[in-house]
Amino acid sequence: MHTERTTSKFGRGVIEHYREYLPVAESTAVISLSEGDTPLVFCPQLSKRVGRVVFVKNEGVNPTGSFKDRGMTLAVSKAKERGATALICASTGNTSASAAAYAARAGISCVVILPAGKIATGKLLQAFAYGAKIVAIDGNFDDALRLVRELGEAGDLAIVNSINPDRIAGQKTAAFEIVDVLGDAPDFHLLPVGNAGNITAYWAGYREYHALGRSTKLPAMIGFQAAGAAPIFYNRIVEQPETVASAIRIGNPASWKQARAAINESHGAIDVVSDEEILAAQTWLAQHEGIFVEPASAASVAGLFKCCDSKDAAYSFQKIQGQSRIVCTVTGHGLKDPDVIIGQMKELKSVPATVNDVRRAVGL
Ligand SMILES: *Cc1c(COP(=O)(O)O)cnc(C)c1O
Repeated sequence: MHTERTTSKFGRGVIEHYREYLPVAESTAVISLSEGDTPLVFCPQLSKRVGRVVFVKNEGVNPTGSFKDRGMTLAVSKAKERGATALICASTGNTSASAAAYAARAGISCVVILPAGKIATGKLLQAFAYGAKIVAIDGNFDDALRLVRELGEAGDLAIVNSINPDRIAGQKTAAFEIVDVLGDAPDFHLLPVGNAGNITAYWAGYREYHALGRSTKLPAMIGFQAAGAAPIFYNRIVEQPETVASAIRIGNPASWKQARAAINESHGAIDVVSDEEILAAQTWLAQHEGIFVEPASAASVAGLFKCCDSKDAAYSFQKIQGQSRIVCTVTGHGLKDPDVIIGQMKELKSVPATVNDVRRAVGL
């Protein structure tokens, strides 16, 4: 395939940026959509609200609107290198959106297996737009992943769920970026936990950079599950996970053990947040910092509020000094999952096109 390279180092994607830390050869054809290099946004209102220094790593600005693109560029590049002609994944939505886009880019086909009726509108729309072969099953995400494992083992379909180690390797670049931008690791890293690949990947990235002397410390990893889908917190499989945060509606996480190790080794914690807390944090972040994220992503911010405010938190920030730096990953863009907000929107009535009517309508 013909490639055109720009002379700039910027915007070439995570493989070109962090090549030496990733399992790629000079000959690996890189399938990239210029993912990564996402903003680490200092949040003044949020910092004030919790009395700490808080940054948000905004992964919603990746090419398909979630962090899944970081792992997908590597997984698809490697799958293509190994001669795969088709990809397969199970998804709560964002993995399928990402896989479908990178498959299109690679010129190979993509099969996605989804729990019927459980996928947020924007994400399903993406899978259709990128031309994936979509199968909806009567079952939940965990059932879909079981089918993918069976189909992937049998045939020549390359599995691009986070059970694929290339996904985790690509996703660890988010931790590299944070250290590169802050000049050191943060003290605390908060993030939502679903299938638990991302917490595993961040911890791997932080450890790797630390071992190389790129940071002086390691953060405590603090993960948040939705109260109705919290197998790691409760230490048991949840047969019927339920939460408004569809991207973390998972009852039997694939990287359960690795997540536990990340939490224990980093002296972090796992905690739960309710759907009400998640939606309140989503609204708060949009209306105070101008960052609109999907519900699952808001679990990290809901968790931050809990750590700062609640006596019941698994990890309390109440005794921790104000100078410590906190990073919250927000994992996906708000436009992907508009259903809750559409439901909340009151009917918008039109007014006559006069200055006076407009003034009255906005209460001026
Ligand atoms: C995939 C996803 C998660 C969960 O990440 P895991 O690696 O499965 O723990 C959280 N939020 C969003 C938006 C996601 O797409």
